[in-house]
Amino acid sequence: MLRREIPHHAREGRVIRVARSHIAPAPLVGELSPLQPHQPWDEHMQPLCYWHDEPVALQLESEPGDAWIEGRQWLAELPASWFSLLATALQVGAWLENHRFCSRCGERASKLEAEFAMHCYACGHRNYPRISPCIITLVTRGEAMLLARSPRFPPGRYSTLAGFIEPGESAEEAVHREVFEEVGVHVDQLRYHHSQAWPFPHSLMLGYFAEATTQRITIDGVEISDAAWFSPRQLPALLPPYSISRDLIETHLARWR
Ligand SMILES: [Zn+2]
Repeated sequence: MLRREIPHHAREGRVIRVARSHIAPAPLVGELSPLQPHQPWDEHMQPLCYWHDEPVALQLESEPGDAWIEGRQWLAELPASWFSLLATALQVGAWLENHRFCSRCGERASKLEAEFAMHCYACGHRNYPRISPCIITLVTRGEAMLLARSPRFPPGRYSTLAGFIEPGESAEEAVHREVFEEVGVHVDQLRYHHSQAWPFPHSLMLGYFAEATTQRITIDGVEISDAAWFSPRQLPALLPPYSISRDLIETHLARWR
Protein backbone atom coordinates (compact mmCIF):
# COMPACT_ATOMS: atom_id res chain seq x y z
CA MET A 1 0.00 0.00 0.00
CA LEU A 2 2.40 2.68 1.26
CA ARG A 3 5.91 2.80 -0.16
CA ARG A 4 8.39 4.84 1.90
CA GLU A 5 10.18 6.53 -0.94
CA ILE A 6 9.98 10.29 -1.39
CA PRO A 7 8.73 11.02 -4.93
CA HIS A 8 10.93 14.09 -5.32
CA HIS A 9 11.15 13.81 -9.13
CA ALA A 10 7.37 13.77 -9.55
CA ARG A 11 5.65 16.99 -10.58
CA GLU A 12 2.10 15.79 -10.20
CA GLY A 13 0.09 13.19 -8.31
CA ARG A 14 -2.31 12.90 -5.39
CA VAL A 15 -2.29 15.52 -2.62
CA ILE A 16 -3.08 15.29 1.07
CA ARG A 17 -3.96 18.60 2.77
CA VAL A 18 -2.90 18.88 6.41
CA ALA A 19 -3.30 21.63 9.02
CA ARG A 20 -2.98 21.40 12.81
CA SER A 21 -3.50 17.60 12.99
CA HIS A 22 -6.55 17.83 10.71
CA ILE A 23 -6.79 16.45 7.17
CA ALA A 24 -9.11 17.71 4.44
CA PRO A 25 -11.54 15.15 2.99
CA ALA A 26 -11.42 14.85 -0.81
CA PRO A 27 -14.49 16.13 -2.67
CA LEU A 28 -16.91 13.28 -2.09
CA VAL A 29 -17.18 10.87 -5.01
CA GLY A 30 -18.47 7.74 -3.32
CA GLU A 31 -16.10 6.89 -0.47
CA LEU A 32 -14.58 9.15 2.17
CA SER A 33 -10.90 9.72 1.29
CA PRO A 34 -8.05 11.92 2.55
CA LEU A 35 -6.45 11.92 -0.92
CA GLN A 36 -7.26 14.85 -3.21
CA PRO A 37 -7.59 14.12 -6.94
CA HIS A 38 -4.50 13.80 -9.15
CA GLN A 39 -3.17 17.33 -9.88
CA PRO A 40 0.00 19.30 -10.70
CA TRP A 41 2.18 19.99 -7.65
CA ASP A 42 3.67 23.36 -6.71
CA GLU A 43 7.03 24.00 -5.04
CA HIS A 44 5.46 24.54 -1.60
CA MET A 45 4.24 20.95 -1.43
CA GLN A 46 6.29 18.26 0.32
CA PRO A 47 6.58 15.02 -1.68
CA LEU A 48 5.58 12.34 0.84
CA CYS A 49 5.37 8.73 -0.36
CA TYR A 50 3.78 6.40 -2.87
CA TRP A 51 0.30 5.08 -2.17
CA HIS A 52 -0.66 2.14 -4.40
CA ASP A 53 2.24 3.23 -6.67
CA GLU A 54 0.85 6.74 -7.08
CA PRO A 55 3.02 9.64 -5.84
CA VAL A 56 1.53 11.65 -2.97
CA ALA A 57 2.53 15.15 -1.83
CA LEU A 58 1.62 16.92 1.37
CA GLN A 59 0.18 20.41 1.26
CA LEU A 60 0.58 22.12 4.61
CA GLU A 61 -2.01 24.80 5.31
CA SER A 62 -2.16 27.26 8.18
CA GLU A 63 -5.70 26.50 9.45
CA PRO A 64 -8.07 23.58 8.91
CA GLY A 65 -11.23 24.34 6.94
CA ASP A 66 -14.74 23.81 8.32
CA ALA A 67 -15.29 20.32 6.92
CA TRP A 68 -11.78 19.04 7.79
CA ILE A 69 -11.56 15.96 9.97
CA GLU A 70 -9.32 15.56 13.02
CA GLY A 71 -6.63 12.86 12.81
CA ARG A 72 -8.08 10.49 15.43
CA GLN A 73 -11.45 10.60 13.74
CA TRP A 74 -9.86 9.70 10.37
CA LEU A 75 -8.22 6.67 12.03
CA ALA A 76 -11.55 5.64 13.52
CA GLU A 77 -13.49 6.02 10.26
CA LEU A 78 -11.13 4.46 7.70
CA PRO A 79 -10.03 0.80 7.56
CA ALA A 80 -6.73 -0.06 9.34
CA SER A 81 -4.94 -0.26 5.96
CA TRP A 82 -4.97 3.58 5.85
CA PHE A 83 -3.16 3.92 9.19
CA SER A 84 0.39 4.26 7.81
CA LEU A 85 -0.55 6.94 5.26
CA LEU A 86 -2.55 8.99 7.77
CA ALA A 87 0.14 8.65 10.46
CA THR A 88 2.90 9.64 8.01
CA ALA A 89 1.00 12.68 6.73
CA LEU A 90 0.06 13.92 10.21
CA GLN A 91 3.58 13.47 11.52
CA VAL A 92 5.39 15.06 8.57
CA GLY A 93 2.80 17.87 8.60
CA ALA A 94 3.42 18.60 12.29
CA TRP A 95 7.19 18.55 11.73
CA LEU A 96 7.06 20.97 8.76
CA GLU A 97 4.81 23.32 10.68
CA ASN A 98 7.19 23.43 13.66
CA HIS A 99 10.51 23.64 11.78
CA ARG A 100 10.07 26.54 9.38
CA PHE A 101 12.96 28.33 11.12
CA CYS A 102 16.35 27.03 12.22
CA SER A 103 16.24 25.97 15.87
CA ARG A 104 19.93 26.90 16.27
CA CYS A 105 20.26 30.36 14.65
CA GLY A 106 16.68 31.42 13.86
CA GLU A 107 17.08 31.90 10.08
CA ARG A 108 14.41 30.60 7.72
CA ALA A 109 15.00 26.91 6.91
CA SER A 110 14.56 25.25 3.49
CA LYS A 111 13.29 21.77 2.80
CA LEU A 112 15.60 19.34 1.03
CA GLU A 113 14.55 17.26 -1.95
CA ALA A 114 15.35 13.62 -1.40
CA GLU A 115 14.80 13.26 2.35
CA PHE A 116 12.63 14.73 5.09
CA ALA A 117 15.04 17.43 6.25
CA MET A 118 14.83 21.18 6.91
CA HIS A 119 18.22 22.71 6.18
CA CYS A 120 19.56 26.06 7.37
CA TYR A 121 21.86 27.64 4.77
CA ALA A 122 23.01 30.26 7.30
CA CYS A 123 24.58 27.89 9.85
CA GLY A 124 24.33 24.41 8.29
CA HIS A 125 22.02 22.96 10.97
CA ARG A 126 19.54 20.34 9.81
CA ASN A 127 16.27 19.27 11.40
CA TYR A 128 14.72 15.89 10.72
CA PRO A 129 11.23 14.78 11.71
CA ARG A 130 11.17 14.24 15.44
CA ILE A 131 9.98 10.87 16.69
CA SER A 132 9.43 10.66 20.44
CA PRO A 133 9.55 7.15 21.92
CA CYS A 134 6.98 6.33 24.59
CA ILE A 135 6.33 3.15 26.50
CA ILE A 136 2.80 1.82 26.83
CA THR A 137 2.23 -0.98 29.31
CA LEU A 138 -0.52 -3.36 30.24
CA VAL A 139 0.14 -4.26 33.88
CA THR A 140 -1.43 -7.57 34.81
CA ARG A 141 -1.77 -9.76 37.90
CA GLY A 142 -2.90 -13.12 36.64
CA GLU A 143 -5.96 -12.39 34.53
CA ALA A 144 -6.63 -9.00 36.17
CA MET A 145 -5.57 -5.83 34.35
CA LEU A 146 -4.52 -2.52 35.85
CA LEU A 147 -6.18 0.25 33.82
CA ALA A 148 -6.23 3.96 34.48
CA ARG A 149 -8.03 7.03 33.23
CA SER A 150 -6.65 10.42 32.36
CA PRO A 151 -8.65 13.52 33.32
CA ARG A 152 -8.99 14.19 29.53
CA PHE A 153 -10.86 10.91 28.83
CA PRO A 154 -14.62 10.77 28.24
CA PRO A 155 -16.50 9.48 31.32
CA GLY A 156 -16.05 5.75 32.02
CA ARG A 157 -13.06 5.21 29.71
CA TYR A 158 -9.90 3.50 30.99
CA SER A 159 -6.63 2.65 29.27
CA THR A 160 -3.17 1.17 29.72
CA LEU A 161 -0.37 3.25 31.28
CA ALA A 162 1.91 5.25 29.00
CA GLY A 163 4.65 7.84 29.16
CA PHE A 164 7.62 9.35 27.35
CA ILE A 165 11.06 7.81 27.65
CA GLU A 166 13.42 10.31 29.31
CA PRO A 167 16.88 11.20 27.94
CA GLY A 168 19.39 8.52 28.92
CA GLU A 169 16.71 6.01 29.87
CA SER A 170 16.02 2.57 28.37
CA ALA A 171 12.48 1.55 27.43
CA GLU A 172 12.44 -1.04 30.22
CA GLU A 173 13.58 1.51 32.80
CA ALA A 174 10.80 3.80 31.59
CA VAL A 175 8.21 1.03 32.11
CA HIS A 176 9.29 0.56 35.75
CA ARG A 177 9.45 4.31 36.41
CA GLU A 178 6.18 5.31 34.69
CA VAL A 179 4.14 2.53 36.28
CA PHE A 180 5.47 3.40 39.73
CA GLU A 181 5.01 7.17 39.23
CA GLU A 182 1.47 6.87 37.91
CA VAL A 183 -0.01 4.14 40.10
CA GLY A 184 2.61 3.27 42.76
CA VAL A 185 2.89 -0.37 41.64
CA HIS A 186 6.12 -2.37 41.17
CA VAL A 187 6.38 -4.69 38.15
CA ASP A 188 8.63 -7.39 36.72
CA GLN A 189 8.55 -9.99 33.87
CA LEU A 190 8.45 -7.29 31.20
CA ARG A 191 7.53 -8.68 27.79
CA TYR A 192 7.83 -6.61 24.61
CA HIS A 193 4.74 -6.86 22.39
CA HIS A 194 5.15 -4.55 19.38
CA SER A 195 5.26 -0.88 18.45
CA GLN A 196 2.94 1.61 16.78
CA ALA A 197 3.48 5.07 15.32
CA TRP A 198 1.21 7.50 17.15
CA PRO A 199 1.07 10.80 15.25
CA PHE A 200 -0.33 12.99 18.07
CA PRO A 201 1.94 14.69 17.40
CA HIS A 202 5.02 12.46 16.90
CA SER A 203 5.20 9.49 19.25
CA LEU A 204 6.38 5.94 18.72
CA MET A 205 4.61 3.70 21.22
CA LEU A 206 6.60 0.67 22.42
CA GLY A 207 4.11 -1.82 23.82
CA TYR A 208 4.92 -3.99 26.85
CA PHE A 209 3.21 -6.44 29.15
CA ALA A 210 4.37 -6.35 32.77
CA GLU A 211 3.35 -8.43 35.77
CA ALA A 212 2.68 -6.58 39.03
CA THR A 213 4.67 -7.64 42.11
CA THR A 214 2.65 -5.31 44.36
CA GLN A 215 -1.10 -4.77 44.24
CA ARG A 216 -1.91 -1.56 46.09
CA ILE A 217 -2.65 1.39 43.78
CA THR A 218 -1.61 4.94 44.68
CA ILE A 219 -2.54 7.36 41.90
CA ASP A 220 -0.54 10.52 41.22
CA GLY A 221 -3.74 12.61 40.80
CA VAL A 222 -2.22 14.68 37.97
CA GLU A 223 -1.68 12.49 34.89
CA ILE A 224 -4.06 9.86 36.27
CA SER A 225 -7.46 10.63 37.82
CA ASP A 226 -8.36 7.02 38.65
CA ALA A 227 -6.87 3.54 38.33
CA ALA A 228 -8.21 0.12 39.26
CA TRP A 229 -7.83 -3.62 38.74
CA PHE A 230 -10.32 -4.99 36.20
CA SER A 231 -11.38 -8.58 35.66
CA PRO A 232 -11.86 -9.70 32.02
CA ARG A 233 -15.56 -10.13 32.88
CA GLN A 234 -16.07 -6.53 34.03
CA LEU A 235 -14.34 -4.22 31.61
CA PRO A 236 -14.74 -0.43 31.43
CA ALA A 237 -15.04 1.54 28.16
CA LEU A 238 -11.77 1.15 26.22
CA LEU A 239 -9.86 2.99 23.49
CA PRO A 240 -10.79 2.31 19.84
CA PRO A 241 -9.53 -0.89 18.12
CA TYR A 242 -6.82 0.87 16.07
CA SER A 243 -4.84 1.80 19.22
CA ILE A 244 -1.99 -0.30 20.61
CA SER A 245 -3.56 0.14 24.06
CA ARG A 246 -6.60 -1.79 22.89
CA ASP A 247 -4.41 -4.35 21.14
CA LEU A 248 -2.50 -5.08 24.37
CA ILE A 249 -5.79 -5.59 26.20
CA GLU A 250 -7.30 -7.79 23.48
CA THR A 251 -4.11 -9.90 23.34
CA HIS A 252 -4.24 -10.43 27.12
CA LEU A 253 -7.95 -11.30 26.97
CA ALA A 254 -7.37 -13.84 24.20
CA ARG A 255 -4.68 -15.52 26.32
CA TRP A 256 -7.09 -15.95 29.27
CA ARG A 257 -10.16 -16.86 27.29
ZN1 LIG B 1 20.73 28.04 11.37
